[in-house]
Amino acid sequence: MTIERLPLQANGHLISRETEVEVLRLDGREPYIAGVAYHCTVCDRQPVFRTTDSAVQVREPCPYPDGITTKITINVTSGKLLVTDDLRPVFNWDDNAIADYNSTLGQAQAVEAMAAAGCAYGPVGNSCPGLYRTGPDSYIIASPRYDDDDNPSIPESTRLARICTDLWAYSIADLEHWKAKGGDPARLGWTDTIVEVPRGTYQFTHHSGERGFDRDAVETVTFAHVERIA
Ligand SMILES: [Zn+2]
Repeated sequence: MTIERLPLQANGHLISRETEVEVLRLDGREPYIAGVAYHCTVCDRQPVFRTTDSAVQVREPCPYPDGITTKITINVTSGKLLVTDDLRPVFNWDDNAIADYNSTLGQAQAVEAMAAAGCAYGPVGNSCPGLYRTGPDSYIIASPRYDDDDNPSIPESTRLARICTDLWAYSIADLEHWKAKGGDPARLGWTDTIVEVPRGTYQFTHHSGERGFDRDAVETVTFAHVERIA
């Protein structure tokens, strides 16, 4: 058996933090590539390798080399948004209908499935972000940075809701739509906020799946841009 280190040409996939991988060769067998993930953390596909004398290449390119920006819309006909982390079981997705939720693709598919049911959903990690107004019809879901004197990078006066992230996500829906689907206002708690906004169609552009997105950045972390588009 021989072991050598060769450059990894990942073809856009995210399967290793390293630029070189260990190749184990045993006579008459396919080389074994050590230290790579079984599935790309972006597209959830299993990499198929071509190993030459000088490099290890993934054969098929990643379909999402820049990650995934998810754009969805929800209708807010009541002018009241219910803003919280978790709106299950009223809104949910079918785990069997999406790629692994730990992958970027699986999360994007969950976002799409939730939007189809009328809920703007997006993973934010354990960041406890807020919903902030940035203009008459524009908002962000973001975590501010705090300076040495504890001043936030986004004015607190513009914060409409805090999102306490037990689920590591935000879930936002039209209040009346949520009620019509079985949501019970008597069970709302201190982590649920109702925000009055102009009625209309709201577009959520969610960024956490973008390649290089850093939820632990020192600067303001903007998970989503929200805009009333109609
Ligand atoms: Zn990939």
